[in-house]
Amino acid sequence: MSSVADQLPSANDTYVANFGEKGSLALPPSKKVAIVTCMDARIDPAAALGLPEGSAHIIRNAGGRAADALRSLIISQQLLGTREVLVVHHTDCGMLTFTDAEIRDKLNHPDANHIAFLPFTDLERSVHEDVDYIKRSVLLVPRFKITGWIYDVKTGKVEQVV
Ligand SMILES: [Zn+2]
Repeated sequence: MSSVADQLPSANDTYVANFGEKGSLALPPSKKVAIVTCMDARIDPAAALGLPEGSAHIIRNAGGRAADALRSLIISQQLLGTREVLVVHHTDCGMLTFTDAEIRDKLNHPDANHIAFLPFTDLERSVHEDVDYIKRSVLLVPRFKITGWIYDVKTGKVEQVV
């Protein structure tokens, strides 16, 4: 089986052929919004949330955890003018399936003890925690609108929980 790197040139040729006017998009997101969401391969945040190129910062990491996204959120707000944050977690998330102790065991290296992998046991609570984290962060702007959502991987439906 060929690797993604092997297939990339032809896939990108197709993309470039359909690039259209996107080269003229401005750097700051036109909707002035930052989305914090999971890296889960089943989610296409731009399509699911109606956010085409140029409209939003989409910050992805394992779980869509706010603490992991802090650096990017600061840059988004302070340098690129975003004024709203949406935290979007999802059903069947891999972060519901392990503990810090388990992944540290697997790595079996002292450096792993300094990393908070930020798994969670309750999906809705994790959204509340991350919205609260963003609201409380002294390096982010508390007056901006901050909401929390859950994406259902079985239906594509997104529902607001905060
Ligand atoms: Zn996930």
